Amino acid sequence: MTIKVTQPWPPADSTAGAPAPHVEHLLAPNPSSWTYEGTNSYVIGHGGSSLIVDPGVPDDDHLQTLMRMSLAGDRTPMAVLLTHDHPDHSDGAREVAGVLGVPVLCLSPRFADELPADGAVLDVDGLDVHVLHTPGHSDDSLCFWMPSTGALLTGDTLLGARSAGVMGRLGELLRSVEMLRALTADRDAIGLPGHGPAFTDVAASATRVIGVRTRRIDQVRGYLADGDASLASLSARVYPDVTGTRAKFGESTVVSTLEYLAEIDGGIPDPLREQVSAEIAEYYVERSRRHREEAAARAASH
Ligand SMILES: [Zn+2]
Repeated sequence: MTIKVTQPWPPADSTAGAPAPHVEHLLAPNPSSWTYEGTNSYVIGHGGSSLIVDPGVPDDDHLQTLMRMSLAGDRTPMAVLLTHDHPDHSDGAREVAGVLGVPVLCLSPRFADELPADGAVLDVDGLDVHVLHTPGHSDDSLCFWMPSTGALLTGDTLLGARSAGVMGRLGELLRSVEMLRALTADRDAIGLPGHGPAFTDVAASATRVIGVRTRRIDQVRGYLADGDASLASLSARVYPDVTGTRAKFGESTVVSTLEYLAEIDGGIPDPLREQVSAEIAEYYVERSRRHREEAAARAASH
């Protein structure tokens, strides 16, 4: 694909907007039961430089618009950043990085040209963008923090009033969210999530996530105490309203809760330990089979 840099930005019919200083937003055209309205792509621009965050899906119009945004005002794009490597955020990354001739910065070995350290500061022509390691939603999750404006790109770690699944480790998610809460507790901040609208109550959103997760942990503990260690049954009891493709979200979150409890003394009653580890192992076998199928389907459709 070649980029048509002569087209004006912003286009008259654009769905893009500027939710925070030096940050522009563009909604990817991939609404679904997994992605809500679609994935939020962002461009951070300051002075003569810019960064693209989460290019989203490889839709030509979307990626073209995103690249024009990154080049507007004679800016030079520095890199493509990924909050994590789930396909709805990352599938367009290689294409955009290739066309613009910039590296992909993320923690996913599948995409990374450079692995940013926790606390690394990217200098966008005088605007500091801090890279924060926030594992939990996924093992490779990152947030991007601009202390000068209070803007926090949260990926799927915090979604304002909504909840995202836990595909990484629950203990890490709780630590990551607590860190974001402390970071934003005593100051104005604006959360720019991977899905859904920007939100101003970042610390409250973090507190809510910690509360939801803690209640889920207590709930699973209660069912285990009753002798229920079946993953299918626990998922249906914890998430009775979550069905269809979203049921996989519920299941992965219950698995991460069981793994969390398995690391705590007495978290899982002794007579159930063997069954719980067998259920978890079976879940991972099934999940990698599903991922292989999804990757093959994506490759076939490109
Ligand atoms: Zn997502």
